[in-house]
Amino acid sequence: MTDRDGRLKIHNARFILTVDAGRRIIRDGSILVEDGRIVEVGKAAELESAPAERVIDASEMVVTPGLLNGHAHISYAHATRGIFPDTLGPDYLPNVFRLQGELDEEAEYYTTLLAIVELLKGGTTCFMDPGSTKFLDACMEAYEQSGCRIIVGTHVTDMPNPVNLPQYSTAEAIAIMENTIREYDHRLDDRVRAWAMPFDASYSTDELLRAAKRLADEYDTGLTLHQINMPSVVAASVRAHGMRPIEYLESLGVLGENVLLSHVIGVDDAEMDAMARTGATTVMCPSQTLKQGSGITRIGKLPELLERGISVGLGTDAPNNSNLMETMRAMYLAAVIYKDGRQDTSMIPPETALELATIRGAEAFGMGDEIGSVEVGKKADLVLFDTRRAEWRTLFNPVNNLVYNADGRSVHTVLVDGRVVVEDYKPVFVDEWALIQKVQQIGEDVLARTGVSFPSRWPVV
Ligand SMILES: [Zn+2]
Repeated sequence: MTDRDGRLKIHNARFILTVDAGRRIIRDGSILVEDGRIVEVGKAAELESAPAERVIDASEMVVTPGLLNGHAHISYAHATRGIFPDTLGPDYLPNVFRLQGELDEEAEYYTTLLAIVELLKGGTTCFMDPGSTKFLDACMEAYEQSGCRIIVGTHVTDMPNPVNLPQYSTAEAIAIMENTIREYDHRLDDRVRAWAMPFDASYSTDELLRAAKRLADEYDTGLTLHQINMPSVVAASVRAHGMRPIEYLESLGVLGENVLLSHVIGVDDAEMDAMARTGATTVMCPSQTLKQGSGITRIGKLPELLERGISVGLGTDAPNNSNLMETMRAMYLAAVIYKDGRQDTSMIPPETALELATIRGAEAFGMGDEIGSVEVGKKADLVLFDTRRAEWRTLFNPVNNLVYNADGRSVHTVLVDGRVVVEDYKPVFVDEWALIQKVQQIGEDVLARTGVSFPSRWPVV
């Protein structure tokens, strides 16, 4: 990792999309960074003489806040990525967790590091792994080495579940969540946060859910869980409790400003009202829901969530159900899905899509005062997009070009906490090709060991 001693100046950017309170776009702007934080933002001419130990020439760059991904299973899936047929249905998750169960600490470290490379190279500087990392100590090395910002946890269940996850006693599950928070929250210069992470309300007792919320409150941290209101989930909740799943969470006292519900496909008005009342937040994963046929174009409620003032961020979910871990793609899809689904081009303007990937995502993480915009005092998580590329030109409206034209391939330089982690398109903390070869071998080994395979639809000759 490169050092961050002294001042760093990002100089003369063609545009800085600050996403600050005034949503200013600074033409010909510069940013000064010191001790990991932004200390000045303004016109390049005004900051011309400001001294800096290192200057990054940003003259053909568009600078944005680091992107946030609120739901990305990063710890194992790269080993066997792309093997599952689209139609696997309910057998998908049992297979996923079976293969994950075969990976040891070293394998999880390498697969995690490769996922981090993919995310950082795509401009995503902060991401949430929703509890699927098994060997957090080994993966802490990957977080430290890469310099990423991450929210982790250990997902738990205390009920029988169809997805092959271990079923703990309620007391064990609570202890696991608490130990994870105690051990990992605020580590690595506060770049690592740890939350309570019951896997899914459907596989959790009321006692476990209440305890997860209590831990989030007591430790001043967060709680996240998968919340997908499939018709069967809704029907079961109405049968058992006389109310829909998110209304039931509210009745348990489990919703609040420190609670982030992932996906929220299939929510209704009353459930969104419950989220708005309690301050609960959410992340939506459009590339995953589209690929898995969840009906987001028909039943997705992003406009209604935003209308209620609910903090919404974006996610990509896993490399095997999404599959690209690129927040840029999620941002693009958020901007276009509702235009088509509602046949209304006023839906989710590109500015809103960029907010979802930055400041609104940061608010959904409870980190809106620390990251998510280019403002004095915030942590210096920044992305420099190279506009010396065909897809960026011609360049007049940088927000339109960023959301609709560009993708992660134009990410030139990335800073997290004031440290350069991607430079000239390459991660500075690892030999990427050597890492890829290592993970390919891990995948081949695990498939050979388990005998898991799915035939190609086309003959491989
Ligand atoms: Zn997930």
